[in-house]
Amino acid sequence: MINSGEIIKKGNIDREELALVNRYTRRELSADELYCFSMILCDNEIDRDIEQFSTAELYKIAELFEGKTGIFDHEPSAANQCARIYRCYVREDDGRVNSIGEKYACVMADAYIPRSESTSSLIESIESGIRKEVSIGCAVQRTLCSVCGNDMHSFDCVHKKGRRYDGSLCFGRLSGVTDAYEWSFVAVPAQRGAGVVKEFKTEVGLLDSISKRLKAAGDLTINEAEKAELVEYIERLKGLSSEGESYRRELIDDVTRLNALAESGMSTKLLSSIVERMTISELKAFKSVFEKRAACPQLAPKSDSERGRVSDEYII
Ligand SMILES: [Zn+2]
Repeated sequence: MINSGEIIKKGNIDREELALVNRYTRRELSADELYCFSMILCDNEIDRDIEQFSTAELYKIAELFEGKTGIFDHEPSAANQCARIYRCYVREDDGRVNSIGEKYACVMADAYIPRSESTSSLIESIESGIRKEVSIGCAVQRTLCSVCGNDMHSFDCVHKKGRRYDGSLCFGRLSGVTDAYEWSFVAVPAQRGAGVVKEFKTEVGLLDSISKRLKAAGDLTINEAEKAELVEYIERLKGLSSEGESYRRELIDDVTRLNALAESGMSTKLLSSIVERMTISELKAFKSVFEKRAACPQLAPKSDSERGRVSDEYII
């Protein structure tokens, strides 16, 4: 397995590459003024967090990292930003499969560093192999379970990454890469952190961020990805709300039916005026009391005076 973020030295760049580099430079640079190298930013192998990018996600990553500048050891100061990716693409390997039997694929990036006094030690550290790994940071929307397909951060999934279910390994499929933050040189072996740094943009995070912006003064602007997620979230809330309402109605019907069986002495009219204002948990508590009464009629009030009274358990 190739380490995520391996640096591969490359030879002199050709005219086509030079043109790609010069899209990003303030003045036209010649090949002599540049130091270029290639990197594998990440691949579709299962990583140390037992998570995997599908090949389709790798194509999104490649698109997002084009033109991005690199930093040293994740310290984003302007002085550190001296290497830039001028070409980024996915390489699929027909003759090789990853550990789960899929065709191996990786994100390749070509980057340049302008040769100068201030960059010579960095170039030297790459040349000598002191810096031979990079790590990348990107935003991922969700991790889907390889066993059940549900979001692993939701209650719908009960599986654990790294365990085997019917012989197959459970791992997270990283889905929905939305942003690429940075790529960074990692000194080896001083830092163990080489690899892919993932930040999960959860719905809570998204809604928090939108609600913060809603509270702030001025107009609110949201991007396409946020818009799509917000619509999806609202639709899901609508679904949950209608399910909740129909469950509440069922509980009201149960309570009304049980009230008659339990002979509580409360008129249906009085009861319905009370239950209509109750929450689901209050209705559930009410129902359980009525169920007990209905099952054991001896618990029901006997005397006429008792019949007219609502027990303390009913007071809300
Ligand atoms: Zn699962």
